[in-house]
Amino acid sequence: MPKPNQQKFALVDCNNFYASCERVFDPKLEREPIVVLSNNDGCVIARSNEAKSLGIKMGVPYYQIKNLMIDKSVVIKSSNYPLYGDMSSRVMKVIGYYSPIQEVYSIDESFLDLSGFTLNLNTHMQSLKVQVKSWTGIPVCVGMGSTKVLAKLANRIAKKYSRFDGVFDIDKLPSERFEKLLDSVEVVTFGGLVISLLKSLSRSVLILPMIFTRLILALSKLY
Ligand SMILES: [Mg+2]
Repeated sequence: MPKPNQQKFALVDCNNFYASCERVFDPKLEREPIVVLSNNDGCVIARSNEAKSLGIKMGVPYYQIKNLMIDKSVVIKSSNYPLYGDMSSRVMKVIGYYSPIQEVYSIDESFLDLSGFTLNLNTHMQSLKVQVKSWTGIPVCVGMGSTKVLAKLANRIAKKYSRFDGVFDIDKLPSERFEKLLDSVEVVTFGGLVISLLKSLSRSVLILPMIFTRLILALSKLY
């Protein structure tokens, strides 16, 4: 029997959530570049991967990239919050089947407490990913770690590197690779103040009480 996992959290995060919701209701949009605009079609608030690779950035005003979008036949959607809210509840419900302790963190992110689980967590989270996609149509990535901050960081890695197949456990990294990883974490801008978020933090500092993790998570959500 495998060793029980000690403290362990997963962060399940939907990929390009608003753009993915639009795809669920219009499957013709699969593989098309999609951009979702904010209220009154002001600026970009979501992009499919295809739109990202055209160089379209988050938060850019629509008028600045209108020509590029016409040129590249980008599908433009006005935001539809009732649809996203409804899809979110469906996704969160499926995620909740995978742990008795779930914290819905935002419209497209949920933490699961996997502490003490004796099953293979990678397999467990792979089946969550497959189940969410097949029951709701929404793709997700899962990051795992011994704190919520680490799970969040792991999620970013799961999204960035396709070799992990959407699920990554940061506690499995040897410590020298972990240190290197922290060195490569981006700098966060907060109210004009540039904060080197994780760069200067050691692994031990990261394992701090919730209040600190909350702060870091709030900051990390800003970019
Ligand atoms: Mg997301």
